[in-house]
Amino acid sequence: MRKHRRGLWHTNGVLADDFASAILEKAEWLVRNGRIRRVSEDKWVVRGLRSKHIVKRGATGYLYCDCKGFHISGTCSHVISILLAESKGVKAEA
Ligand SMILES: [Zn+2]
Repeated sequence: MRKHRRGLWHTNGVLADDFASAILEKAEWLVRNGRIRRVSEDKWVVRGLRSKHIVKRGATGYLYCDCKGFHISGTCSHVISILLAESKGVKAEA
């Protein structure tokens, strides 16, 4: 019997709220644990629990990530963690 799958990738109603708070929670974890490293002006490496991902800032200022979640949803915890880190003024460059 398969484990019940939560509908995290369906962006409607209550599920979207769950999705957003799950992403935010993970993003805050990434920031708190110093998982973000800025490697250049517009590029960061975010180390998750299982894999690391590259986040880049495009010409329009929009952030892009190479993870699966980003491709499916257009956002992910890695991108949000960069936004959080930057807005908090955490020194992401070190
Ligand atoms: Zn990502």
